[in-house]
Amino acid sequence: MLKKRTLAIFAAICLVAGFVWFFLPESQPKDLPQQMSILSHSLDSRMLKTQQWDLSDYALFIDDSGQPESRVSLMVQYRYKELKNRLRLYYAIPEARGLQSLLDASIVGMVIGGQYPTYRLNLINTYAASTTVDEMKQRLKVVYFGSDQWQKVLWSKSTAAAEYNPEIDALFIPCIDFANPSVRDALIFHELKHAQQRRQMQTLGVTSTDSGGQISDITADREVEAHRLGGKILDVGSQGEYPQRIQAVLAKYKAVSAVDLIMKIRKKDIIYIDEVFGEAGPIEAAMRRYGYFFNLGDAWIAANVPPDHRGENARQLYKELFYTQPKQ
Ligand SMILES: [Zn+2]
Repeated sequence: MLKKRTLAIFAAICLVAGFVWFFLPESQPKDLPQQMSILSHSLDSRMLKTQQWDLSDYALFIDDSGQPESRVSLMVQYRYKELKNRLRLYYAIPEARGLQSLLDASIVGMVIGGQYPTYRLNLINTYAASTTVDEMKQRLKVVYFGSDQWQKVLWSKSTAAAEYNPEIDALFIPCIDFANPSVRDALIFHELKHAQQRRQMQTLGVTSTDSGGQISDITADREVEAHRLGGKILDVGSQGEYPQRIQAVLAKYKAVSAVDLIMKIRKKDIIYIDEVFGEAGPIEAAMRRYGYFFNLGDAWIAANVPPDHRGENARQLYKELFYTQPKQ
């Protein structure tokens, strides 16, 4: 008797719950950029003050005629050596290993802000005098810059904390300390990947065809490659905790596509993932969240899409995630 009544109550609850679920208004934002920007703010409470290096003692001085001296600061040399050593942590990742030679052959320089207005091409003259023009053309240029130079040196005027400029084959790195060095490393490898892609495209005679605000498939595919490598760096940097949390969030939602998954992600999910890396400065926080979104969507694709279609799906994900969002 009791059993029957329990069953009847249970059936009634199911019926009501099903009814409510079916007719509940769709509460999720319909717009992907809107969803992205709502979630972007979820990391705001986890931000530290950005640690800018003290550049005053180490500045590379530019004389009055605008001709830069060929004197590379000791600090930059030191920091660069430190960075190169650190990047060896990722030798287990074949793609990362493949980028090491590019870095080993690079030359390093620096630009500071304030009263020394220096721009992209001029920066390149600030490298060691012993480097010939031909060598300069072939070698990757690594340029450290102060954050007051942000808008002057960065090519895309994006929220990127580091950037590879294919026009002059230069990797720009900001003079800030990242709260979590693995995030910085992921970013550097992402940009190094672009430097490698540029060389491969030159060899193959391929050019990308981005035009009129439309991103080409070639560019999207290159970004997918670079973001995947960034994710692998974070995997190693977090001793496997990052992919575990990505999978845990993935398991919470039923989605019909990678974008649909992103639409379902909640602030608490992003914070849960972000806890792996600790609190961040604002630039670092922005970089992290882009990585999380891509890696979440890509993990959905890996779990749900047949191998033949994964490339095409990831390309679409990249285009929707990174190209439709409002510029900050
Ligand atoms: Zn990129």
